[in-house]
Amino acid sequence: MANRGPIHLKLVVLGDQYVGKTSVIERYVYGKFDSCYTVTLAGHFSTKFVNFEDRDVKLLIFDTAGQEDARTVIRSLYRDAHGILLVFDCARRDTLDHVTEWMELLKQNCFAMPEVVLAGNKCDLPNTFKAVNRLQGEELAGLHQIPFFEISAKHDLNVKEAFQSLVHRVLSIR
Ligand code: GDP
Ligand code: MG
Repeated sequence: MANRGPIHLKLVVLGDQYVGKTSVIERYVYGKFDSCYTVTLAGHFSTKFVNFEDRDVKLLIFDTAGQEDARTVIRSLYRDAHGILLVFDCARRDTLDHVTEWMELLKQNCFAMPEVVLAGNKCDLPNTFKAVNRLQGEELAGLHQIPFFEISAKHDLNVKEAFQSLVHRVLSIR
């Protein structure tokens, strides 16, 4: 077949501030974890090439900053995305509650509803720190009919799997 250049996919990592969006991207793209918190610059993206189900795929992974005042900027980033990794923090219940709001924003603002995968980050934390258990994550994901992964950017748990699931879903509808 002609024209077998890489497929370009735009992925955006969304979720409240401090849930670990930047850390998840750094883990997936650069294979590292830095425990320092750095404020994310709007519109920053990383590139990753993957060979997926025999296709060359170039992922453009956009990081976002979750502050309220950045909502307009974020909207312009996600509205033409192919896939969204929607992240919450297992240690903060409100970040799970906000998932429904994020889904609503996507429905309202996207040109076409992107594929979404839900990720509960920081699952490495001991149970005493956890405000959300796996069942609650699964239940919410079920409600929105999206996959759910418990992940840890810190301990490198399921981060790759969550991105792969997202890419798989995006590619399977193209
Ligand atoms: P963002 O605001 O969503 O981009 O969040 P960051 O990636 O900056 O992470 C916020 C804080 O959570 C930082 O102090 C990170 O070191 C920490 N963090 C991120 N991912 C994990 C994780 O998987 N486990 C733990 N225990 N801490 C994490
Ligand atoms: Mg960040």
